[in-house]
Amino acid sequence: MSLKYVAVEDIPGIHQDLRRAYRTGKTKSVAFRKQQLLNLCYLVEDNWERIKDAFIADMGRPREEAELLELNGTLIELKEAYNNVEKWAAPEKAPFSWLWFSMSPVLRNEPKGVVLLISPFNYPLYLLLCPLSGAIASGNAVLMKPSELSPAMAALLTELIPRYLDPEVYRIVNGGIPETTKILELPFDHILYTGGGRVARAVLTAAAQHLTPVTLELGGKSPCVIDPRCDVKTAAKRIMWGKLINGGQLCLSPDYVLVPDWFQDTFVEALKNAYYELHPVEPKVSGQVTRMVNERHAARVKGLIDDTKGTIVFGGEVDVESKYAAPALIKDVRGDDSLMSEELFGPFLPVVPVKDVDEAIEFINERDHPLNVYVFSNDSAFKEKVFGGTQSGTAAANDTILHVLAHGMPFGGVGASGTGYTTGKYAFDTFTHKRCTMDSPSWLDPALMAARYTPYNVSPNTLSR
Ligand code: NAD
Repeated sequence: MSLKYVAVEDIPGIHQDLRRAYRTGKTKSVAFRKQQLLNLCYLVEDNWERIKDAFIADMGRPREEAELLELNGTLIELKEAYNNVEKWAAPEKAPFSWLWFSMSPVLRNEPKGVVLLISPFNYPLYLLLCPLSGAIASGNAVLMKPSELSPAMAALLTELIPRYLDPEVYRIVNGGIPETTKILELPFDHILYTGGGRVARAVLTAAAQHLTPVTLELGGKSPCVIDPRCDVKTAAKRIMWGKLINGGQLCLSPDYVLVPDWFQDTFVEALKNAYYELHPVEPKVSGQVTRMVNERHAARVKGLIDDTKGTIVFGGEVDVESKYAAPALIKDVRGDDSLMSEELFGPFLPVVPVKDVDEAIEFINERDHPLNVYVFSNDSAFKEKVFGGTQSGTAAANDTILHVLAHGMPFGGVGASGTGYTTGKYAFDTFTHKRCTMDSPSWLDPALMAARYTPYNVSPNTLSR
C-alpha cells in the first residue's frame, strides 16, 4: 500500500493555514466542537468494515480483535467526549473565599491553540482519534501525523478526515522522518507524541526551541509478578492473551514474567497450556495472531530470540519475509539477556526466575519505570507490596490490558514510560489551558484593598490568602 507523503515545502503553509483558521475563533464555539465530535463518531461507525480492512492490510490483524479492542474502544472515547464537552468546557468558579469572592475568580477552560499529534503504527485508529477527540473537545486546531508504518490506515484516515471534519482546522499530513522533522521545526501550542523513547528525545529537543509543552505516551518493559498462590490457570491465560494481542505490539503488552525459581516450571507449564488453549491451530495458519508490522521489526525480534541464552519452551521461528513471528515462551531468562535488552514489541514471553517477591521488586526498580506493572495474587498484602514497592504508569492486579478502558481513569506513563494523560477528561485537560481570571470592582479599594498601595500605612496582612 503506497501512502502519499506531503511535500516538505508545503508543510509551513499548512501550519500557517491552521494558525489563521484558529484565530478566526471557530473552534472555540462549543456547538462547533460538539458537531465535529459527532462527525468523528460517524466517521468510525460509517466506515467500520473499511477500518477493519485497513488493519488486515497493514498487519494481518484479526478482524474480531480489531473490533473488540480498537474500534469499540475508540468509539467509547469519542462518545464520552461528545457527551461531556459542554460540562468540561464550562468555566469553573473558584472555591468560595470571603476574601476573594467579590472579585469573581473564575477558571476559564481555554484551548491552547494549534496542537500537533504524532501517532504510532500499532493502534493507528485509537491512538490518533482519541487524542484528536480531546483536542477538538478543548477547542484546538489540530495537525495530525499518523505513522507511515501503517499506510493503509493512514491513507484511509487521510481520505475520511476531511470528509467528516472541518478541513480548515483539522489537517492530516503524512510522511516519514524528513516530513516529521520539518513539522517539528514549527511552533505549536502543544505536542502529543505517542511512540518510542528514542524518537521522543528528538521531539522534546525540537519542542524546546519553541518552549512547546509536550505530552509523551511511551512504552517500556511491563513486568508480571507472580505469587505462587494466585489462580494459576487464569493468570497464565490472561498473561498469554495479553501478550499475543496485536502480536505483542502493544504498549500495554506484558513484556516478561517474574516468578519464584522453585515455581518456574509449574508456571511455565500453565503458560504453555494456556497458549495451546488460545491457539489450538498454529497462528501462521489460523491467522489469529497479528504479524509484525514490517520486515525490519520482524528481523529485530528474530535477532533478539536468536541471541537469547534462555531455554525456548516453544515457538520463536521468524519468517522475516512474511513478517511472521511464531509466539514463543522462553524460560530461565536472566536480566542481561538479549530478550531483556529492549521493549520486545513482539509475541515472545520471557520468564525470569527470581528468589522471591522482594527480588522481583528490586529487579523492576533497577530498570526504567515501565508503563504497566501486573501482579497476579489473591493476597492483598502481596498485591499492595508490588503496587507500593514499584513505580509505573498504570498497575493492574490479576489481569492485563483491560485497565486502559476503565471509565473515567487516566492513562499515562511515568519517567521513561511517558508524561501526561490522554484519555477522557484527562485528554481534554491535556489540551486545555486553565486560565485564572477575575474582575475586581472599584469599591473594593476603600473597603478592603487599600493596604496594597504605597505608602504602606495599613495592615500588611489584609492581602494574605
Ligand atoms: P516510533 O517512535 O517509531 O514512531 C512514532 C511516530 O514517530 C511515527 O508517526 C513516526 O513517523 C514518527 N517518527 C519516527 N522517527 C522519527 C524521527 N526521527 N523524528 C520524528 N518523528 C519520527 O514508534 P512506533 O514504533 O510507531 O511505536 C511503538 C512504540 O510506541 C513502543 O515503544 C510503544 O510502547 C509505544 N506506544 C506507546 C503508547 C502509549 O499510549 N503509551 C501507545 C502505543 C505505542
